[in-house]
This record gives sequence, structure tokens and C-alpha cells, in this order.
Amino acid sequence: MKCSEKISNVTSDIRGPLYVEAMSMEAAGAKILKINSGNPAIFGHKAPDSVKKTILENLDKAVAYCDFRGMPSARAAIRDYYLARGVEITDTDVYVGNGVSELADISCAVLLNDGDELLVPTPCYPLWSNCAKKVGATPVYYTCDEQSDWYPDLDDMRRKVTPKTKAIVVINPNNPTGALYPDELLYGIAQIARENNLMVLTDEIYDRLIFDGLPHTPFAKIAPDLPVVTYNGLSKSHIICGFRSAWLTITGPRSASEEFRQGVEKLMSLRLCSGAIPQLIIPDALKDDESTQVMFRPGGALYERRKATMDAINACESLTCVKNSGALYVFPKIDKRFKVTDDRIFASTLLREKHILLVPGSGFSHVTPDHFRVVLLPSPEELSGAIKAIDEVLCEHFL
Ligand code: PLP
Repeated sequence: MKCSEKISNVTSDIRGPLYVEAMSMEAAGAKILKINSGNPAIFGHKAPDSVKKTILENLDKAVAYCDFRGMPSARAAIRDYYLARGVEITDTDVYVGNGVSELADISCAVLLNDGDELLVPTPCYPLWSNCAKKVGATPVYYTCDEQSDWYPDLDDMRRKVTPKTKAIVVINPNNPTGALYPDELLYGIAQIARENNLMVLTDEIYDRLIFDGLPHTPFAKIAPDLPVVTYNGLSKSHIICGFRSAWLTITGPRSASEEFRQGVEKLMSLRLCSGAIPQLIIPDALKDDESTQVMFRPGGALYERRKATMDAINACESLTCVKNSGALYVFPKIDKRFKVTDDRIFASTLLREKHILLVPGSGFSHVTPDHFRVVLLPSPEELSGAIKAIDEVLCEHFL
């Protein structure tokens, strides 16, 4: 039996062959430091008590299939979240799903025909390019420029638009770079979408995971005249990746998004409903910003982990790194003195020699083999130890 050709180019390095090898090493007794995945709970970070309390007290309300678009209480809370951030929205613009992952899949299936093009960033969390490939469309990569704080290069984005382009994917804050985009940049992206009649798919799952009190502007706020689909969820902000609690919103002129909206409803109704238990949490979780914010202030879990990682990177000569403003990641660069011609070989050497599992830059469609992602979730000591170990492997094997 042969697989569909559509999945032949689908790749996932986050849980790919190296991950499988690490699991076998672990089964054989090795202790592996896994900095491959942004899954806070496996590093001992805890979901807020409010989340657990809400579930226990309301479990009976989640036993039936609910509205395929989402529970009314969840949709109203999500509407209020965006109204408070200056987005024009009603609860009928909100759709609740089993993770942004499912919603990206549904959206690409609704939007893209064979041969259509989806503009996605490089480096890019691989979800979006893979969802495009699965439906026979082509991800076309626009550059995010390390020399400019990893911001998207608007000239490059404009050059990549063709008659086949259907939409621009924006990931803000970005995974894997942790870049947070200023408003001028969002206005620039909106202008490209406007000129070319494109939809904007904006993945804002890290919108509350931001350092130094910096503001996040929802794309939907700066482009009320455009069809904008916003993706968000509680996996990271409330440390409940396993619950699969997420949503999309469709804003802008209804006439421009009506067909997309109907397509989303059709595919959502096929899977009956999104998991009901995770939806119970949404109203309380969206009122509880503090449990997320505290992690990103001085003394907080993420703040101290970023500091330990950046200090360790700055202390070694093999690496440089643009400091991230948000999300759970940094994306260091290996100095050109080191002869890494295949970053997967570098990552597998690191796994075998130092028992550290990470995802090399090519896993994020990065064009040169000289980057890797560090997930800022193990303890500060483990993170600085990991950077030191990476430096040792580079000096021993790649100089
Ligand atoms: N989008 C981005 C940018 C991510 O980094 C992730 C997970 O790491 C997801 C989406 C997946 O989110 P979910 O757990 O809601 O499926």
C-alpha cells in the first residue's frame, strides 16, 4: 500500500528520527536532556490551580457533544479577550478547536487548492508549511532577517507573492526566534496583503508570553479592513499543552471571509465538536493573565532561564544569539569558523556525545545549517550546562 504523494514532503524534526533515537536511548537507561519541544509541563512547570479547580467543579457540563463551533461561554470569553485588545469582533467570529495544530490543518484544507501557495516565514515552526503540503499546496518562504532582530523582510515577502499566493502566515511572537514584531512591521505586512488581495493567517499563540512588559498588538487590530484569521490557545500560557485548548477568530469584512467561514464550519461540524473539558477552562484562564506574566518578570521562571541561557551563549566563542522578546525559545547561530555542513549531523553528534536532544535550524526550514533552537524550559543550571556542552561538541568535532 503506497502513501499519498501529498505527504511525501511532510517533515517533523521536533518529533522526528532523532527524537525516536533519543527515546530508544532513554529506554536503554540514558538520561536525555530534551530541549526539543516547547512542552512546559514535562519540565515541572505547573498549570495554575484555577485551571484544575474549574475543571473539577464543572466536569458535568462537559459530558455531551457541545456546539461544533465551541461552547457559548468559551466563545464569549474569547470575544471579550479581543474586544479588550481593540479588535472588532463578535462571538460568531470565534471557533474553538483541539489545539492550534488542528485549526491550522482545517484552515489550510479550507483555503488551499493543489498548487496554491502559502507564504510562510523562514525560520518557521513547521506546522504551517506541513499543513500546506498535506493538501497539495506549496509553502513559499519569506525571510526573517537575523541582522534585523529576525523581523520579516518586507521586500522579500513582496517579491515572493505570485498569482498562486492565497495567504500570508505571520507568527508573532515567532517560534523559533522569539521575535516580537513592532506595529510598523505589521502595517507593512498588511499593506502587502491589501495590495495583493491576500488573507492573513496570524498565529499568536505566544501573545501573552512576552518579556520586559513589551506590548503585543493583535494583527486583527491593525488591519480591520482585511480578512484576518487569528490563532491562539492555552497550551503555552496556561501550561496545558495536553488539553488541546485553542481557538481561531475570523475578522475583517464579512464578504471577504464568508466562504472561508462556511468552509471552516463545514469541516468543524464533521469532527462533531472540540474537546469539551478544555473549553470549560477558557473563561477563567483568559481572566488569569497574572500566572503567565509572573513567569516573564525578573525572578520568574522564564526570565531567569533566558538570562542563564543568554549569559552562557555570550560566554562561549562558538555561538551568538539575538535575544528573544517573547515565546519559549532562542535560536543561536554557530560561528562560521565551525564546519557544520549538515546541522542534523551536528544535532545527532550532540545527542550521542552529550545526551542532549534539540532541533537543528533545518527543522524550521532555515536556509543555512548554522542554527539550532533552545527551548527555555529546563532549569537555568541545565540550560547553561547544555550551552557549555554544545560549545564542547563544536570545538571537538567541527573545528
Ligand atoms: N503555533 C506555534 C507557533 C507553536 O509554537 C505551537 C506549538 O509549539 C503551536 C502552534 C501548536 O499549538 P497547539 O498546542 O495549540 O496545537
